[in-house]
This record gives sequence, structure tokens and C-alpha cells, in this order.
Amino acid sequence: MNYNKRTISDGDFRGKKVLLRCDFNVPLDKATGAITNDKRIVAALPTIRYLLDQGAAVIACSHLGKPKGTWKPELTLAPVAERLGELLGRPVIFAHDIVGEDARAKAAALQPGQIMLLENLRFDKREEQNDPAFARALADMADVYVSDAFGTVHRAHASTAGVAAFLPAYAGFLVRKEISLMGKALMAPNRPLVAVLGGAKVSDKIGVIENLLGKADTILIGGGMAYTFIKAMGGSIGASLLEADRIDFARDMLEKSRQSGTRLLLPVDTYIGDRFEAGCQKKLVPAGEIPDGWMGMDIGPKTVALFTDAIRRSGTVVWNGPMGVFEFPEFAEGTRAMAQALAESGADTIVGGGDSAAAVEKFGYADQMTHVSTGGGASLEFLEGHNLPGIACLPDR
Ligand code: ADP
Ligand code: MG
Repeated sequence: MNYNKRTISDGDFRGKKVLLRCDFNVPLDKATGAITNDKRIVAALPTIRYLLDQGAAVIACSHLGKPKGTWKPELTLAPVAERLGELLGRPVIFAHDIVGEDARAKAAALQPGQIMLLENLRFDKREEQNDPAFARALADMADVYVSDAFGTVHRAHASTAGVAAFLPAYAGFLVRKEISLMGKALMAPNRPLVAVLGGAKVSDKIGVIENLLGKADTILIGGGMAYTFIKAMGGSIGASLLEADRIDFARDMLEKSRQSGTRLLLPVDTYIGDRFEAGCQKKLVPAGEIPDGWMGMDIGPKTVALFTDAIRRSGTVVWNGPMGVFEFPEFAEGTRAMAQALAESGADTIVGGGDSAAAVEKFGYADQMTHVSTGGGASLEFLEGHNLPGIACLPDR
């Protein structure tokens, strides 16, 4: 896969109508419907400002939540249009449909330097079906297509992939940043390349582990998925998270790591709890010696030292998955310490995965990373080495 895609800085957009796919899938307060975090809107601003300053008329579009092809008033993008307007300091015209009369009329009247936002793309079931007629209707309102919704590039939907068949297509700045930084980390990293993998389940990360074995110099495994590996090596893991049907996979990976030249490091000590609850009883034990009824909740200090040492010597670190149940304050230290180690490493540091990004932000290290991906699922598929339809549909540079 070529990650050097034609980007908006390669084109001339003066007087053009640009269909801009953004990721405005922001979290909403369940009770009030208010936007609780506008990070994704902020992330789209450089591309929007650039296009408007160039004299383009921008027709922005996005999905929000999972309305599954039905009109759900609580998932309207109207609040996003308002917030975007505040951030841009200029009005955002809102269309009350997607490719209907209102949208088409407003798009036709849109002037250079103006921006409008279409209603939630997923109110129409044809969006997720990648229906060509729907893609065509989106394309008909514009002259050019710009893809800047990194969070959905792993989906082959009408607005993320299908539309590129009907319009000249470009990557926006956010997509360019995501794919160039993550692409470099995987294809031409400063070495050693260290992958830090954690999170709840082995089964979620199988593709990533398989793709990185042979590519990375070292893989550090923490989080809930470490216990299946420890079990595979004959350790006692008590009531820790275990995916019994993945023990063979774990054994296989341990074997392959010996042949592939990728060092695979597992926790040597672990904090355990007697219940899966904040405020439970807490103890520190060697990793393979967890008593019955206790569960592994975080990596221990010896493991932190071991992992930190590997990170300190790295040229590139890719991190996906927290080291422990960082949502409980007493089990957050392993994850916090990894974030700090990345921040202080001097290496190229890439954080992918929704919870990992949230953890890095929570502990205040986000600004010190080379890149915190804005796409949880998309970054995971990227690390798995998948061909992403929303990237593949863009012409190479
Ligand atoms: P990401 O979103 O970064 O890809 P995941 O979704 O795979 O990460 O995993 C995040 C979750 O893993 C967190 O909610 C965290 O509580 C959980 N987790 C980490 N370590 C453990 C553990 N030892 N036992 C149970 N859950 C864990
Ligand atoms: Mg997650």
C-alpha cells in the first residue's frame, strides 16, 4: 500500500465546490445532547481553513453515531454545525437533508469561502451500503472530493470510498498526517521499532501481533491480554482475563517470535485485585503466580522498568492498548508510566486505539507524542496491515 497520496496542497481549489468528508462523530451527553468533546471537530479545522482560504466552497459531511439508516433527531449534526461555526468564526450553513432538495439548493447557492454541512450521512441506509446512486448524488453537488475522515477510512461507504469514483479525489491534511506518520512507523521506522500492545482482549489484537511479528524489533505485551500468554507459558493466572481459545495462538506467537527476530516481552510482575472494582484489595505478585480468585489488573514496577528500558532505547514506538485497568485509579500506574516513557523517549511515538488515546490524554502526555491517532478502529486496521478502502480510493501522488 502506497501512503503517499495526492493531497489538497497538490491541487487548486479556487472557485471549486469541495465535498469534504469529515469525522464529526463526536461524543454527546446522553441527557442534554450537548457535545462533550470537540476534539474531532478541531482536528478538521486545518483542512477546512485551507480550502476556504483558497477560495473553495466547502460542502462538509459526516456521520454521527449509529442511526442505521433511519432518521433519528437526537443524532442530527445541527449542534456540530453550530460548534464548527464557533471554532471557525464564520457561519456554517446547515442542510436539513443529505442529498435532498434542501442540501442541493444550498450547495448550488454556496459561494467561494462559504461552508455548509449536510445532515448525518447515516440517516440514509445507502451510505453504509456504499450505494453508487447515493455516492453519485453526493458527488453531483461538488466538483472535487476531499477525504479527511481518518476515523472512517477503514469503512467502504458511499462518502468514504464510493464517491471517489465520480470526482477527482484528494487527501486532507488530517488523513495525510495519519497515514504518513503511521505509514512511516510501519514501513520505514527509525529503529529499533518497539510495539507496546495491551488492552482487554487477545482476540482484538491478533491481526496486529501477526502483522508486527517480523516487522518490530520488540513487542511488549501488557494489559488483560498478557494473561493468556502467561497461561500459555504454564503460569497461574487466577481469575484474570483469559481467552482459553487463544492459548494456542499465544503459544504459536511465542514460538514465532523466536524465529522471526522480534523479541516478545511479557510482564514479570503484576498488580492483582480480589474483585474487578475500584477500591478492591490490591497485591503485587510475580506474573505467573496469581492466586485463585485474584485477577491481574496492572503491570507491576519491575515490568514498568523492563518496558521503559526497551522504550528508552527505541527509535520508534507504536502503542495500542492500555497496560492495565487504568479507569481504576489504583491500577492506572502501569499505563501512566508507559505514557511517560513514550513522552520522554525521544523516539517517534505513535498512539493508536481509542482507549489508549484517552489514557494518554488523561495523564497529560498527548502533546508530547509524535502522533495520537484520531481513529480507533481505523488505526487498529492500519496496524494490522489492512488495505483501507478510504485510503485505497485516493490516487497516489
Ligand atoms: P484501545 O481502545 O486502545 O485499542 P482496548 O479497547 O483494546 O484498547 O482495551 C482497553 C481496555 O482494556 C480498557 O478499558 C482497560 O480497562 C482494559 N484492560 C486493560 N488491562 C486489563 C486487565 N488486566 N484486565 C481487564 N481489562 C483490562
Ligand atoms: Mg477500545
